[in-house]
Amino acid sequence: MKQLLSFLIIIMMLSNANCQRPEDTEDWSREPVVVTPAEGTQPPSDAILLYGGAEDIEKWVQIDGGPPAWEAGDVLTVVPGTEDIQTRRHFGDVQLHVEWRTPEVIEGRGQGRGNSGIFLMGLYEVQVLDSYENETYYNGQAGAIYKQHIPLVNACRPPGEWQTYDIFFTAPGFGEDGSLLSPAFITVVHNGVLIQNHVELLGPTLFIGKPRYEKHAEKLPLKLQEHSNPVSFRNIWIREL
Ligand code: MG
Repeated sequence: MKQLLSFLIIIMMLSNANCQRPEDTEDWSREPVVVTPAEGTQPPSDAILLYGGAEDIEKWVQIDGGPPAWEAGDVLTVVPGTEDIQTRRHFGDVQLHVEWRTPEVIEGRGQGRGNSGIFLMGLYEVQVLDSYENETYYNGQAGAIYKQHIPLVNACRPPGEWQTYDIFFTAPGFGEDGSLLSPAFITVVHNGVLIQNHVELLGPTLFIGKPRYEKHAEKLPLKLQEHSNPVSFRNIWIREL
């Protein structure tokens, strides 16, 4: 009797499996848009180029609203003593590619050596710093989410060499009453090495004090930091997600 029961269960399982077809689990609901991948200095076909050469300085303004006083040639270079610059266009969830270079001639140490920064939404900083054999507090070195997350590893190239950041950012969500519905998340790949793996931001990145969210717009400008060091940028492109 027991054997017969087991036999029947196996038959039922088999017949049930036989009712299912491969097509039942195929999803035809959304065809992915065709995108031509990045090639050399050519961004992916659906990316917005933010800096590819001098003419792209038009896409940026100084934080006080004036024209950027940074040196804008084939590459974009911080002029110490000027201001942070930000994009005219506003962004929320993005994929961002940035190439940066700290000065070849080493001047200063710690936070004073090749310091700049990439502020998603103008508020959330991925640190840019010459962290090649240059110690500072670990949540303030290159690739840190400033004062919030230490990078997993230090993938810095020597000063004077070009480096890449590929950043994947999810903007925070807020309720009508200003409450936080979902925090911001960020992933950073530095020179092809994963250094921040979908880490949660605790609020805007601050120099002093504990971070705390305050409701802001769904989209805001991308900001680059003037931190008294002549750091250069090139081939900056962004994809809205
Ligand atoms: Mg900085």
